[in-house]
Amino acid sequence: MAIVLALTLLWSVGFVDYATGKDFAMSAFYLVPICWAAWVNGRLVGFLMATNGAATWFIADWLSGSIYLNPLVGYWNTLMLFMFFLVVVYLLTAFQAARDGLEETLEQRTLALEALEVEIQERKRLEASKLQAERLAVAGQMAAQVAHEVRNPLGSITLNLDLIYKEIGRLAVGKSHSPDEGRLLIKDVREEVCRIGRVIEEYLQFARPPKLQRAPVELNALLEQKLGFIYSNLERANVKLQMHLDPGVTTINGGADQLWQAVLNLIRNSCEAMPGGGELTIGTRRDGGQVLLRVSDNGKGMTAEQSQQLYEPFFTTKQEGTGLGMVLVQQIITEHGGQIECESISGKGSTFTISLPLMENS
Ligand code: ADP
Ligand code: MG
Repeated sequence: MAIVLALTLLWSVGFVDYATGKDFAMSAFYLVPICWAAWVNGRLVGFLMATNGAATWFIADWLSGSIYLNPLVGYWNTLMLFMFFLVVVYLLTAFQAARDGLEETLEQRTLALEALEVEIQERKRLEASKLQAERLAVAGQMAAQVAHEVRNPLGSITLNLDLIYKEIGRLAVGKSHSPDEGRLLIKDVREEVCRIGRVIEEYLQFARPPKLQRAPVELNALLEQKLGFIYSNLERANVKLQMHLDPGVTTINGGADQLWQAVLNLIRNSCEAMPGGGELTIGTRRDGGQVLLRVSDNGKGMTAEQSQQLYEPFFTTKQEGTGLGMVLVQQIITEHGGQIECESISGKGSTFTISLPLMENS
């Protein structure tokens, strides 16, 4: 249909050309139907229309009786116009092909991006479920160990209670035993009960953590505020606190309570590694899109073997320890998409470095 219209238009231009005799003034109008046909029907039809256009121009020129000094000029003009039409058709269709190609590429890229988005979502989901599975596996292992950890003090509690039961009559009546003996037994029982309480509490913190409610957290402000609360405790323990907060550190998308719990566990360990006091350094530093949070002490440090066991549930070198603090720290940091590293020299001190991703555009 378009081709019939284009041909009609072409010949109408030819007719006007013939009727007015203004052949060169009219020649540009031949391009309209030629370009239209080329755009709608493609390059081959465009070339045919160009031939048709040149022929129509020649016939109109000839019929209107143009006279040239040299009779060959008419043919020459036709040939020139023909070449001109061909070049225009060629360029126009080349432009069209490039545009179509570009559109196709754009469409492909869009599709690829959409596929990538789906993949990213899927990967995030997988990572979340992997984290959950790992937590369950560790929680399962730990449950068995908790039972073990609880059984020992329970044994000793029962033993002490048996002793108190036997001695109670004599303690009450006779003067052969001092009340201090009874107090000592009860103190032992109390200590063991406290220990069970701690193990269970820390286990539950790990196995049933409060759901991470993410919100923007200004890390420096959080540290300044919370460290302010424990400052007097540190002073009492003869621990000198040094703070180096990089103002370039901005916002983390995470849970303020959990993050502080992790830092507090590190601080506790540092203080426990410096029983007579020492120096505790806490610093933040921006490193590209992440923040490096450092907790450093000049306490006992760890041997290479201890460093290796650091994140094992129930690994502890302390009489009163539970060995669950570092497991919890690692869990919190992993949940925030971060990592924790430890450098420690026995007898010199330890440095923990946590890297956490900062929020985008912050
Ligand atoms: P806990 O403090 O109950 O022993 P943790 O999981 O917090 O359990 O720590 C495990 C062990 O790692 C500690 O018993 C200690 O041996 C070692 N440790 C952790 N932090 C430090 C530190 N800053 N300096 C020296 N040793 C440390
Ligand atoms: Mg600890």
